[in-house]
Amino acid sequence: MIQFPPADPRSVPNHHPALDTLTEYAAGQLRAGFDLVVATHLRGCARCRSEVAALETLGGSLLNTIAPAPLNANALAATLARLDEPAPPPPARNLDQLLAGARRRWIVPGIWVAPIDTPHDPDDRVFLLRVGPGASTAHHRHSGAEMTQVLSGALSDGGIIYQAGDMVELAGDDAHHPKVAGDQPCICLFATQGRLKPTTLAGRIAFALAGV
Ligand SMILES: [Zn+2]
Repeated sequence: MIQFPPADPRSVPNHHPALDTLTEYAAGQLRAGFDLVVATHLRGCARCRSEVAALETLGGSLLNTIAPAPLNANALAATLARLDEPAPPPPARNLDQLLAGARRRWIVPGIWVAPIDTPHDPDDRVFLLRVGPGASTAHHRHSGAEMTQVLSGALSDGGIIYQAGDMVELAGDDAHHPKVAGDQPCICLFATQGRLKPTTLAGRIAFALAGV
């Protein structure tokens, strides 16, 4: 089981998901990996939790304004039939449960990756990454968007320092080279749409070893 240092209750995140992202989260429309990253951010961010609560209330109000439409003749029978089906698994929004099954793969001393076993598109990637002080991830591009939640330590990306509790969103065409900031190891939860594309040979070898 991977252990994290206890979160500092006085720390307040400075970097949050975009409003569009929170709206899609509230509507249950995010990709599974992104949904997990946002849910993890919400655990430590009262501001985003209250925004999601407001969006959910707004969504419920909008539903009440939709004019009733006639049901299909077999709608009741179809609904009753579904009651006999096994219940679908709950959304994978609890990182603690997922961590219980996560297995670390050491890439080089100081760096490990732990793929997260949550249902997601086979081309997407959801994983924890631990990088020691002074180290950096390989320079890479993306196939699609990327979301990162800093769980402990601090990350420097594009000249900005992201502390534990902060979330980073990148569009698909961004190339970047995140580095650890400060003298503590940094552990982040990553979700990417599609595979990452390392831009160096060393990066390709490291990503192949990590399975990302
Ligand atoms: Zn937030």
